[in-house]
Amino acid sequence: MSRTVWVLGDQLNRRIGALADAEPGEDRVLLVESRAKLDGRRHRQRTHLVVAAMRRFAAELESAGFDVDLRPASTLADGLRAHRGAHRGVEVVATEPNSFAARQLLERAGVETVASNQFLCHPSEFEAWVDGRRGRRLRMEDFYRWQRVRLGYLLDGAEPAGGRWNFDDQNREPPPKQVNPWPTPVCSTLDDLDRDVLDAIGPAGFGADPTGWWPTTRRQALARLRHAVDVVLPIFGPHEDVIVERSWHVAHTLLSPALNIGLLLPGEVADAAEEAYRDGRVPIASAEGFVRQVIGWREYVWGTYWHHMPGYGDRNALRAHAPLPAAFTDPAKTEMRCLGHAIEGLRERGWLHHIQRLMVLANLSTLAGVEPRAVVRWMTDSFVDGDEWVMLPNLIGMGLHADGGQMATKPYVSGGRYLHRMTDHCGGCRYDPTKRVGDDACPYTTLYWDFLARHRDRFGSNARMAQAVRGLDRLSDLPAVRRRAEVVRQGLADGTI
Ligand SMILES: Cc1cc2nc3c(=O)[nH]c(=O)nc-3n(C[C@H](O)[C@H](O)[C@H](O)COP(=O)(O)OP(=O)(O)OC[C@H]3O[C@@H](n4cnc5c(N)ncnc54)[C@H](O)[C@@H]3O)c2cc1C
Repeated sequence: MSRTVWVLGDQLNRRIGALADAEPGEDRVLLVESRAKLDGRRHRQRTHLVVAAMRRFAAELESAGFDVDLRPASTLADGLRAHRGAHRGVEVVATEPNSFAARQLLERAGVETVASNQFLCHPSEFEAWVDGRRGRRLRMEDFYRWQRVRLGYLLDGAEPAGGRWNFDDQNREPPPKQVNPWPTPVCSTLDDLDRDVLDAIGPAGFGADPTGWWPTTRRQALARLRHAVDVVLPIFGPHEDVIVERSWHVAHTLLSPALNIGLLLPGEVADAAEEAYRDGRVPIASAEGFVRQVIGWREYVWGTYWHHMPGYGDRNALRAHAPLPAAFTDPAKTEMRCLGHAIEGLRERGWLHHIQRLMVLANLSTLAGVEPRAVVRWMTDSFVDGDEWVMLPNLIGMGLHADGGQMATKPYVSGGRYLHRMTDHCGGCRYDPTKRVGDDACPYTTLYWDFLARHRDRFGSNARMAQAVRGLDRLSDLPAVRRRAEVVRQGLADGTI
């Protein structure tokens, strides 16, 4: 065998790139299990997910007849060197990696790459879309409609199914009072392979051990997809944005970890949603809302990442330099119920839904002026689905407004009132969302006004923010709010708020 296909840990699918053309008996497969990735920096469930999925994928390829080199090594580059040493003269090919750093590594190592089909929109296609905009804003909604038409999703002829492109207005309900309509997610049983992986990881790392929520084989991932389409999608949408203490998942599909390591491909996920809509099993508002997440948001952040790399992670338009809140790594270090609940969930499962990520964690970071690089590093390390390509646009572009408004025309910031409306935390919290000064003032509310005051010049002329900024003129207690904000910022850093 003169050719080796090198498969990276987030490309675990027979249909992706170089592996799609590989043949048992003709091509060898290399997977490098880098010990550098077991250093305890990342959430234990993330490390377990990738290592267990790689080992199981290697076993599947072997059963399909491939000669597989599953090689432990201190780094990816060392693993490649050792493989080349063991197979003199071998030609190594790979699929284009999903991170800028990995692409550079492969280039330096002289590994030939094949175009990736792991996403529906290749970065070169995204660039063609950008060129076609001729300097106009790169809006997600425009990209999404372009994808719908070009890929043919949810169309009746040339028209959008259901007569509209966007059913978002039906998908923003506050939490229902007492009912709990959200189905329990699928969970797998762990076995000896999982225990071996946990032994290899050792005691280091943030977060609890896995309990089976995150699939590590394609078969398990397909079972999650079936469950998502049959049980979750019929009610996907109305409660997309709510946070309730009685359900950690509400009606989200939990597919991101499987999608991000290749166990599922976005096309098959969107196809399954379209089919369920056509069969009358899923209403159009839910199908459209979900398809928008998969072929819209996910692909848009993927294209945005490559459009802005390298250097995207260094943006800091709001000149934010505060340290990470102490509670981000220890929920005991806050009395804010929404924050404590989010961090406990993160420790427990390595996953939070998008409103917790956006309006609890990123919102607080933006309001408190936490350094974007520190937030990106912490979130990438703490989430089971955390990858640079998806974290950078979601944080630098969206959550933290660190790109100065290139991706989102206004920062996603809010005071405590939004959290009061969309969560059930505030009733049992020691802080009052309606107050901006005093020991019991909600930190979000205090920091919101302080943020507007700090950035009055920047946002006063922003059409979508001007009204909120003008609200500052009606605050007779603004000096007291700003003094309280200093106490809050210090308390967040010390873990005493
Ligand atoms: C600040 C912030 C950080 C985020 N970090 C990550 C991350 O590290 N990894 C990650 O996969 N997602 C990230 N997201 C996007 C989103 O929160 C998660 O994809 C989603 O919560 C995953 O849960 P789910 O599979 O149940 O999603 P569902 O609500 O069921 O949505 C279906 C799918 O749509 C895709 N999707 C939806 N929104 C986005 C988005 N904004 N960006 C990318 N994909 C999207 C995901 O693949 C998801 O699986 C982030 C969002 C924010 C606001």
